[in-house]
Amino acid sequence: MGPFSEDELKIYEWQLDLPGFGREGQERLKNTTALVSRVGGLGGAVCYSLAAAGIGRMILAHAGPLRANDLNRQILMTHAHVGLPRVTRAAQRLRDLNPYVEVEAHDCNITTENARDLVGRSDIVFDCAPIFPERFAMNRACVELGKPMIEAAVFGMEGQVTTVLPQHSPCLTCLYPEDPPAWKRRFPVLGAVSALAAAIAATEGVKVLTGLGETLAGTLLYFNAATMSFRRIPIARRPDCAVCGHGS
Ligand SMILES: [Zn+2]
Repeated sequence: MGPFSEDELKIYEWQLDLPGFGREGQERLKNTTALVSRVGGLGGAVCYSLAAAGIGRMILAHAGPLRANDLNRQILMTHAHVGLPRVTRAAQRLRDLNPYVEVEAHDCNITTENARDLVGRSDIVFDCAPIFPERFAMNRACVELGKPMIEAAVFGMEGQVTTVLPQHSPCLTCLYPEDPPAWKRRFPVLGAVSALAAAIAATEGVKVLTGLGETLAGTLLYFNAATMSFRRIPIARRPDCAVCGHGS
């Protein structure tokens, strides 16, 4: 049985049959701590898939109370929870889904001050934050500490996902060497499009952790759900990258 009880193993029966996954893959997930930045439209759906798949431990970071206009996309939330901290609702929902997952919830966003500590206590990071300072803080901590980061973003009907394997594939700063313009809190988005990017990101994470398949490291997967077109864009490391390049 190893680290699993009989009851726990039953949850995963259907995925244990996946070629290239099996019992070994399940044990790797169980032994993993995943940091997920934000539990909104994107991060909440990532969390749901990771908890269902049997990630052993999750660290969630998302500041602030739930608003009514979050409910078109934030699938871990409920209407009754409006006005209360999002992250406590997310943690409870994940424990209800899979009581074998440990959840640590922080009612704060990732900053340059807390990134190193939270990333350092994780084996993999899912960047689902809408604003760049937060994303860059996680990217730098991941590169410095050698932790893989799954990078996902949506805007309108478009989304993109890539996987950063520090020192092996381009980091977020290789992709965006200049700070992009400041993001408004509110942007157009359909919940199903967030969930689509989230499903790709969660799948990537499981692959990175278990060695199943081929990851998106070195490739930016871009999609436009309006036309349902998907493009794989090769991306390269920048030797002069301020975060992962020579002399950084
Ligand atoms: Zn870089």
